[in-house]
Amino acid sequence: MEPDKKQLKVVILGGSLAGLMCGVALKHAGHEVTIFEKEGHVRQSHMAGVCLGLDAERFLERHDRLSNSFSHRCLRIQALKSDETVRIFVNARRDITNWDTYYFRLRSNFDGYKSSSYPTPPQESATDGPATYNARKEVVDLTRTGDGEDTKLILSVLDHETRDVSKVEADLVVGADGPDSFVRAKYIPESKRQYVGYIAWRGTVPESEVSEATRNVFRRSVTIHLMDRHHCLVYMIPGVDGSLEKGQRYLNFLWYTNETPEALDEILMDGIDGHRHHNIVPSGRVRQDIWDARLEVAKLIPLPGPFLEVITKIKRPFIQVITEFISPRASFEDGKVLLMGDGLSLYRPHTAFSGTQGAFHALKVEEYVAGKISAQEYEEKALRYARLHWSQSIWYGHFYQSSKWTALKSAFYYWFHCGIDRIKSWWTGEERLLRGWSKVVEQYDDE
Ligand SMILES: Cc1cc2nc3c(=O)[nH]c(=O)nc-3n(C[C@H](O)[C@H](O)[C@H](O)COP(=O)(O)OP(=O)(O)OC[C@H]3O[C@@H](n4cnc5c(N)ncnc54)[C@H](O)[C@@H]3O)c2cc1C
Repeated sequence: MEPDKKQLKVVILGGSLAGLMCGVALKHAGHEVTIFEKEGHVRQSHMAGVCLGLDAERFLERHDRLSNSFSHRCLRIQALKSDETVRIFVNARRDITNWDTYYFRLRSNFDGYKSSSYPTPPQESATDGPATYNARKEVVDLTRTGDGEDTKLILSVLDHETRDVSKVEADLVVGADGPDSFVRAKYIPESKRQYVGYIAWRGTVPESEVSEATRNVFRRSVTIHLMDRHHCLVYMIPGVDGSLEKGQRYLNFLWYTNETPEALDEILMDGIDGHRHHNIVPSGRVRQDIWDARLEVAKLIPLPGPFLEVITKIKRPFIQVITEFISPRASFEDGKVLLMGDGLSLYRPHTAFSGTQGAFHALKVEEYVAGKISAQEYEEKALRYARLHWSQSIWYGHFYQSSKWTALKSAFYYWFHCGIDRIKSWWTGEERLLRGWSKVVEQYDDE
């Protein structure tokens, strides 16, 4: 874009984490930002952790105007073996929050939305642009009129309350509309999410409900139990309203198992009305007999004591189907339409990287709008970053769920992209886009 002398009218599709991060960054740059979100203001999170990696840290340092801490700090990734001995894989820092807390914090920064997590919004700055969050409004069409400087984008927006469709004009449109992105479907209809062959059985348990011994195992670690082509993990996340108080946090449990597409028909059947879910069976909807059978398998294996204690205390389990894709493009209409977040590439969850990717994109869109990088550079960086971390997540997935040979092949694919990243960054003199582990620098009171 031309260096930002004028205030742009920016429309963002999707008011989840990526859309909000982008909205906050562009509002702080003085632009008029409108977010359309097809769902309501208050959502049901997956109660999973959202990991705040390097780019999220950078985003927060630059744009977060609230000061209290909102993530639980893990200091290591470790394995808990069947005999319940622990092996540390890596001492590395992982700051993990939960979706609701991050969402309400970004809302507080974006449009001053008041929630029980953040009842008092931060002070506005005189240079901020206007920011509007429209819930229950879905973008259903996008067209372009005019050429060059006169180009305008016209969006059709369906109001889910009244069923009216209205037209909205924009200088820049950002598709932060998730894995089933409208923007991606419009420009690259063949790029669709695909089932990777396994699912996650999931749930959370308040830390106050498990024994002291179990809490001690999981407190400051992401703990994995490896089995033959399946694995479980547990880590701690903040509690209600982002509470980090001892006793109020949650333990988050996941068990990844390989399932055939035929088996999914049974597993994904709704426990109340019997319809088949696509990607998530929400809590309260998992069939009791299906969950009971899973618990029986857990006892039969048996999972190590701390894992068994957590899974048997889950009251509202849910099931997530693991899907993935990567878009071949990130910029359309001569840079007037951009794609970002999970709409651009959907990683497997093992690297916990989606929130961090959204932050990277938000910062790059900000640079683009400020005229510091071109649309081609935005696309090149967004796609290189995506390839690197997408292939990394596939490698991890194959390591846990497939044969050693498959894992080795995907490791080579990942290393190939690491090589490209290294050469490109050497050539341009810019920082590498591959993100490593955050080092544990300070002494930590392990409670
Ligand atoms: C309700 C919810 C809860 C989540 N909970 C977790 C969690 O606990 N842990 C975790 O790791 N990840 C969670 N995620 C996913 C997480 O937000 C993403 O992995 C990541 O952070 C990047 O998100 P995103 O904003 O690119 O995509 P998403 O989070 O998928 O958001 C896309 C948004 O776009 C909206 N949308 C789609 N199409 C349109 C349209 N045409 N018009 C208007 N709006 C549209 C969707 O309703 C959605 O809110 C959750 C996502 C949602 C939506």
